[in-house]
Amino acid sequence: GLALLEAKQHRDGKPRLFHQAQEDELEERLTLERELQYAIEHDELCLYLQPQVDAERQVIGAEALIRWQHPTRGMVSPGRFIPVAEKTGLILPLGHWVLKEGCRLLGEWRHMPGFQDLKLSLNISVRQFQQPDFAEQVLALIQRYDAPPARLTLELTESLLLSDTDSTIKKMEQLQRVGISFALDDFGTGYSSLSYLKVLPLDTLKIDIAFVRDLTLHMQATPIAATIITLAESLGLRVVAEGVETDEQRVVLARLGCHIYQGYLFGRPSTVKAFSNAIVEYDAVDHASFT
Ligand code: C2E
Ligand code: MG
Ligand code: MG
Ligand code: MG
Repeated sequence: GLALLEAKQHRDGKPRLFHQAQEDELEERLTLERELQYAIEHDELCLYLQPQVDAERQVIGAEALIRWQHPTRGMVSPGRFIPVAEKTGLILPLGHWVLKEGCRLLGEWRHMPGFQDLKLSLNISVRQFQQPDFAEQVLALIQRYDAPPARLTLELTESLLLSDTDSTIKKMEQLQRVGISFALDDFGTGYSSLSYLKVLPLDTLKIDIAFVRDLTLHMQATPIAATIITLAESLGLRVVAEGVETDEQRVVLARLGCHIYQGYLFGRPSTVKAFSNAIVEYDAVDHASFT
């Protein structure tokens, strides 16, 4: 469809010659596009949940991470298909599906002892957020599933700041008024200017995994993670560290004053069912270990 047209037309409108590798790549993308369309319509997608814990290792919530159970390819990672979805526009129905599932889950948790206080974070693509009726979509789903908006966090990325900031802020404020909060994902890898950070109605900065990976006790300086945590503090924002895999990383982050942790150390992304079972068991064994 559109992708093919785009690829085949050079800037001057004349067809371009392809090398075999490019052709293969394009064909692969088109196949993926077609299959993804099918997947959205036929329930091949699901949300995995990864716990987020506080300094006492209490689970305070989860991030929802999309998974695609492909009938022949097996589990396709979002790193592979989200970029395709973004290029083709499929991110809009896909993103709406994520919002719907997320709100449905929050509505269910409302009636489950031990789950009522959990927060749920959903990843939102820039293109999805930029739809003129994005806020209305979110509000409608919250209402439909009776989801408590104060338990919902939307994760945005810094590339959002390259677009119209005024309308971004307006939209965020509209959702913030009902209690929804916002996190800036993968912080430190993008284009944020500090002046924008100050005017956005944000609640949380998520330190990108790249800055967590190298933290060790022996290091003299932990410049980037430390800087982000200090920055967050001065802006009155919470900090979530992503990709915490070792206790050493956790200890260093705790010393730097990090509030919330997410990573394999505390739990891998898992099915909603496995996550729920772990929450129930975890409560029963008094927080010995999550998974
Ligand atoms: P993200 O939002 O930054 O999510 C964090 C990624 O780090 C996830 O990868 C998660 O599985 C992975 N991760 C968590 N803890 C660890 C750890 O300790 N070590 C390592 N090595 N990795 C860890 P995942 O699930 O493959 O998702 C990749 C990206 O795809 C996400 O990055 C997000 O940008 C995007 N994505 C996922 N789900 C959605 C969605 O529902 N909508 C949209 N628009 N994007 C999504
Ligand atoms: Mg995220
Ligand atoms: Mg992230
Ligand atoms: Mg990331």
